[in-house]
Amino acid sequence: MKIQNVAVVGTGILGTQIAIQAACHQYKVTTYDIDDMAFEKVLDRLKVRMKNSSRKPTIPWGQMVKGARVVKKCKTLREAVAEADLVIEAVPEDLSLKRRVFKQLDLLSSRKALLATNSSSIPISRIEKATTRPEKCLNIHFYALDQGRNIVDVMGGTRTPVGVIKTGKDWVQSIGCIPLTVKKEILGFCFNRVWRAIKREALHMWAGGYVDFKDIDRGWMNWTGMSQGPFGLMDGVGLDVVHDIEMVYYRESKDPKDRPPKALKAMISKGNLGVKSGKGFYTYPNPEFRSPDFLKL
Ligand code: NAD
Repeated sequence: MKIQNVAVVGTGILGTQIAIQAACHQYKVTTYDIDDMAFEKVLDRLKVRMKNSSRKPTIPWGQMVKGARVVKKCKTLREAVAEADLVIEAVPEDLSLKRRVFKQLDLLSSRKALLATNSSSIPISRIEKATTRPEKCLNIHFYALDQGRNIVDVMGGTRTPVGVIKTGKDWVQSIGCIPLTVKKEILGFCFNRVWRAIKREALHMWAGGYVDFKDIDRGWMNWTGMSQGPFGLMDGVGLDVVHDIEMVYYRESKDPKDRPPKALKAMISKGNLGVKSGKGFYTYPNPEFRSPDFLKL
């Protein structure tokens, strides 16, 4: 199957980047978001994020703006998905919401269309039953393209044939990204599960009062040579999103060690969501970890 038209549903921080990445690689891209202004708002945020980042994005800003212009922002979901060969859902990390959206996608899109979720933690096998085409459903999970992270986890559900996985992987490659294939279903997919183990440990060390979060970031930055540590990275993702993702793992395992700490929830309740609210573990736009003194003794 050849993918030509791509629809992205939910143009938050990830959906907008996926839409632009595909448009910059000559795909015809349509989008839909319940918030008419979502795409433009995210574009403004991306500009700031990219300006403040030491990492090279997958696509330079000027080219992204051109790509953004050719993405068609639709007023209805029906219009957005009508001609799509591939639909990527990128609405918030909430299983019942994703099931509702997939049910609609199944009703409104062409029978041949593949339906993918960009979920950070929910395997497609939990969503596919909302559709009448589980054999066309898959996980295609992107990371922060604006930070140059062009790896993409690709994973099938209970009935996804090898051919559909291959189509998904080929498409991922065709837009300048690197597919990471998950051979057997696992919560968290490939790289995300590795990153998640680091997040969980770091959050519990901080919340338990064992170590200052800045020292965890210092250690990480010194060790890996990266420009930010786990807490800086979590601020970038959004602490509400981090919490939702951790809850998915906790509900799965029921292991108290997997429960996100109450201290994280308290920050979210105060509106401290990370970069997007101007305050998370650090204060933005000039977080302390960017200071040249941060790594000095
Ligand atoms: P976000 O909150 O930035 O964006 C979600 C968007 O979905 C919002 O614009 C919202 O208006 C829209 N939306 C909500 N309900 C909708 C509906 N019924 N129909 C259409 N649009 C709807 O979230 P995000 O961070 O972009 O995350 C989206 C998905 O991508 C989640 O599943 C998340 O786990 C995953 N993801 C996030 C990251 C990250 O770094 N934030 C990385 C990889 C994957």
